[in-house]
Amino acid sequence: MRGLKATSCQDRVRVSGASCVYCGNPATTEDHFPPRCRSKKGFLLPACRSCNSTAGAAYPYHLPARIRYVQRKMAHRLRSELETPDWAEDEFDELGDGLRREVERWQKLVSNAKRRNAWSAVAYLQSIAPEAASVLLDAECDITTWLARPNWKSLESYEPA
Ligand SMILES: [Zn+2]
Repeated sequence: MRGLKATSCQDRVRVSGASCVYCGNPATTEDHFPPRCRSKKGFLLPACRSCNSTAGAAYPYHLPARIRYVQRKMAHRLRSELETPDWAEDEFDELGDGLRREVERWQKLVSNAKRRNAWSAVAYLQSIAPEAASVLLDAECDITTWLARPNWKSLESYEPA
């Protein structure tokens, strides 16, 4: 069992980065692309827990579609935050202390949601792993075609900037 795990780990090229590739939040997990259930070989992408579990087995061989899927799901989940207009400072001043704290707490969620919604997965991936990105973001490329090449892991030498 241990040998099996080591083997499957060796067959993953790790793309290292501090931020979630899907939303820009701090990356606390690694997303398997293609998902483990579909392939032993592939890539490990930095991801937050929420995006990683949303990605799941969706669009297992096509990263651009997988990214769009995760971002669409996230925008739907965060729709209340995303539809909230920004408050002006003088509007805060009209509130009592208790209510003002509540609104400020909500505004933090709103700005986090807006930041995640505006995140460019493509620009980020290109900045942390330009050559892997050229393969992963190729809209024409089914990743299984790439993984079937004998030298597909040559990307392993790429280190994030
Ligand atoms: Zn995320």
